[in-house]
Amino acid sequence: MPSTAIGKHLRVFALAAMILFAARAAVCRDTIARDSVSLAPESLSNGAPCLITVELHEKASAVAGKWQGHSVVFFANADHRTWFALAGVDIEVHPGEYPLTIDVTLKDGTHKTLRKDVSVEEAPYEKVPLNVPDKFVEPNAAALKKIAADKVVKDKAFAKSAPKPEWSGDFRPPLHLAPQSDSFGNQRIFNGKLDSVHRGLDYRAKMRTPVAAINSGRVVLARPLYYEGGCVIIDHGLGLMSIYMHLSKIEVAAGKKVRRGQIIALSGASGRATGPHLHLGVRWEGSYLDPAKLFQIQMPQVR
Ligand SMILES: [Zn+2]
Repeated sequence: MPSTAIGKHLRVFALAAMILFAARAAVCRDTIARDSVSLAPESLSNGAPCLITVELHEKASAVAGKWQGHSVVFFANADHRTWFALAGVDIEVHPGEYPLTIDVTLKDGTHKTLRKDVSVEEAPYEKVPLNVPDKFVEPNAAALKKIAADKVVKDKAFAKSAPKPEWSGDFRPPLHLAPQSDSFGNQRIFNGKLDSVHRGLDYRAKMRTPVAAINSGRVVLARPLYYEGGCVIIDHGLGLMSIYMHLSKIEVAAGKKVRRGQIIALSGASGRATGPHLHLGVRWEGSYLDPAKLFQIQMPQVR
């Protein structure tokens, strides 16, 4: 082989080795140069859920955050350098800049604080007139008693969430056949009176359409309520819950574990409903978030 050809082969070999080395370095990232905090989605509006990722130079034993008056509990990847939390911005939050502070407890017991200023934009929500039977707009004394009793039951269901994530992987819509309306955040005017902001997403589901759990978790409520009609609430852990309303048949019981995609009920038109549909709510630490935006977030595969 002529010497120029050998030189060419050596250069190709060296180049291949360099590419291989660079690829390996990218795959086994043993060190993280500096601590970072990132959000998905990157820009937030009122009603948006978000995944917070904290990447640390050193291993940590605990990571906890403060965000708009809420405590944010992080869970770790196996390396204890990457930590995640699901959080969100309540629908009623005004646009502006809000601090996210994160306290990191390192393996040696020392602490450090990370801070990120997060801007919240205003989401465009509409005013929508609706007509329902008068008993739902001006409930009588018996109905008010039932509404008050329902509140006690719901508060109890909402009060305790699992201390670790019960969900895994992406959140998926509760049904696929029915189209969803972009109704989250609408200001609803029931029978001519401004009532409340719509804190969920409606699916135009025909009567008795099977409804699936949007992710794994534990059922914390499964019963009829006055406004909600047939209602199921699933706790996904760390303050995140999903709520399914107006059901015609409930197929799970409180206390039972469910898997993502498991059929938990059949849709209906019970409670304060203008017709057959499924109402899906997503609640984090008392804040209602847009379910459609939760489905768009790619969740981490925790190892
Ligand atoms: Zn609804």
